[in-house]
Amino acid sequence: MKDIKTFVKTIPDFPKPGIQFRDVTTIAENPEGMRIAIDGIVDMLKNLDFDLVVGSESRGFLFGAPVAYAMDKGFVMVRKKGKLPRETICEDYCLEYGTATLEMHKDAIKTGQKVVIVDDLIATGGTTEAIIKMVERLGGEVVRVCFVIELAGLNGREKLKGYDVMSLAVYEGK
Ligand code: AMP
Repeated sequence: MKDIKTFVKTIPDFPKPGIQFRDVTTIAENPEGMRIAIDGIVDMLKNLDFDLVVGSESRGFLFGAPVAYAMDKGFVMVRKKGKLPRETICEDYCLEYGTATLEMHKDAIKTGQKVVIVDDLIATGGTTEAIIKMVERLGGEVVRVCFVIELAGLNGREKLKGYDVMSLAVYEGK
């Protein structure tokens, strides 16, 4: 089977100088790429007892929803502020410049439910940290966190210490 990295395009200096942008749109555009990504994450979860997959807008939806479907689990959407129609909880998180806010429906997770978080990529880990806080405030237990890509040089794992973190492809550096 091909390495998922085969399907990732690296764009230098996007969106600003010095950033190596790891573009996952080229995974989605290629059926073989998508199959390798989804099957790879499903494989990471095959012996794990869990109830729900949680993914965040928008690249987390791309990988999280197919994994949930394949494993017959529910999928919970984490969205940017102001998009969800019912009662929400929110969490601020840091971006490179300033902060942003993520939200999820208050009734999306019940106390004691076991949750897996799926996302496209871990950079600083700030986004995932905010999602974990919301899941735990609702009484959920984060039993694994899965990424397609990990940028090891940004030490996102440090922020997620104590959680079970797995990734399909690791890029050294930022
Ligand atoms: P972070 O909160 O720093 O872990 O970053 C979270 C999100 O930002 C990821 O899920 C990506 O969608 C996006 N992102 C951050 N850095 C990059 C990068 N170098 N290439 C592509 N996407 C990135």
